[in-house]
Amino acid sequence: MTASRPRAGQRPATTTKSEPSPPAVWYQGQVQAALVRRGGPLRLVRGEGTHVWDAAGRRYLDGRSGLWAVLVGYGRSEIVDAVAAQLRTLSFAPLTDAASPLVETLAERLRAVLPGDLRSIVPVPTGSEAVDTALKFVRLYHSAGGAGRRRVIISREYSAHGSTYAGSSLSDPDRGLLRGMGTRLAGIRFVGAPYRYRCPHCARLDACTLACADEVEQAIVAAGADHVAAVFAEPVPGPGGVLVPPPDYWPRLRAICDRHGVLLVADEVVTGFGRTGRWFACDHWGVVPDLMILGKGMTGGYQTLAAVALRDRVAERLARRLVPHGFTYSGHPAACAAALACLRIIEDEGLVERAAALGGRLLDGLGSRLGGCPLAGEVRGIGLMAAVELVSDRADRTPLSLGARGVDRLERELRRRGVLAFADNPVIVAPPLTITDQDADELAEAVAGAVGALAARRTRSRAGSQS
Ligand code: PLP
Repeated sequence: MTASRPRAGQRPATTTKSEPSPPAVWYQGQVQAALVRRGGPLRLVRGEGTHVWDAAGRRYLDGRSGLWAVLVGYGRSEIVDAVAAQLRTLSFAPLTDAASPLVETLAERLRAVLPGDLRSIVPVPTGSEAVDTALKFVRLYHSAGGAGRRRVIISREYSAHGSTYAGSSLSDPDRGLLRGMGTRLAGIRFVGAPYRYRCPHCARLDACTLACADEVEQAIVAAGADHVAAVFAEPVPGPGGVLVPPPDYWPRLRAICDRHGVLLVADEVVTGFGRTGRWFACDHWGVVPDLMILGKGMTGGYQTLAAVALRDRVAERLARRLVPHGFTYSGHPAACAAALACLRIIEDEGLVERAAALGGRLLDGLGSRLGGCPLAGEVRGIGLMAAVELVSDRADRTPLSLGARGVDRLERELRRRGVLAFADNPVIVAPPLTITDQDADELAEAVAGAVGALAARRTRSRAGSQS
């Protein structure tokens, strides 16, 4: 997108210099005017395997999986063909009293990989809509059981649960998703997340004390246990910084919820379908949440599909009543066809195990290359999601404030090295599960190189200011 400048013979622009003309496309999560000033977004025109190409023909290793979604790589003809065949056969079916049988086939496939008795699938179009659905369903579950006073939802700092009003309300207030827009939905309380590097309880201790899990219980008790409906949590917050919890955290969360009759909702929109080296991140700890939110990678990014999986007791209670809730595009047959083809690829190619193995290689690669970098405070990750936390002082862990310019610079350094990653602090990488050994090394090399370039620049400018 470029700024529209008046040309000879044109009508004068109706906007003044201080009022830039409105953008033709609203690019998400961007300051529109700043993006225009920088020459617009990277225009991606082609993708194949783990790489994408821009309009100028430059090739990038996609260390973002698009937006955490492209699990099985670009240009998979198995998925394209399945979608095309479905669209030719039946291009739409509602998810009401008429539906495509494909949605049932998909539910069966999901049942086979989901843990425990998460056996009822509520298909919806997007992750945010799945979060909304889960929030409504947990409240309805309690009111249908005669506990309508259970309205409070516990969420956590560093969380990202989407951009609809419910998702924004459940997301960490520091993300600013409702800034200037009004108050969040009533009844949402926040507690700390397991973030060992910056934990107010145990960052400087030898071992984690799980005090962050206990915060959840304290919040439940403070709200009055019989007023709390659910705890919403991402098993490993991704956009919030790839915060890998200690092994006992989720089992402790499960026990706390059980003790107080509170539902446990795991948002696996980012972590599901192999990203962390298990089918679902909850599988690392053998925990079965009451509701699991799925999205993003379910179709490998080829179609729009998300879902909420319900445990039997939740589904059984809700199945007896009319739930007036749904979306036109829920369970679209082409999206179901894409998901089925994507799941087949994940299974046939052993991508879950591959994510575990390649994730180890990526993490080792980042760790060894960044070991001596003064800006690299911590390198952490699980499976194929990793983060490099940037600090201005390694000893006292002072967060490095990048500012808009620093973010731009980091992004440029990454792109110059032929890599796309989430350029911010922390720097986050989450490539397709199909990456090769060579891709993993290239990614680690590029991220380390880009962070190293920032460090060198800082050293130069400090030396300059001292001379
Ligand atoms: N939940 C988590 C953990 C997410 O990271 C996101 C989006 O990034 C969502 C939900 C919302 O998903 P969507 O963007 O598909 O609405």
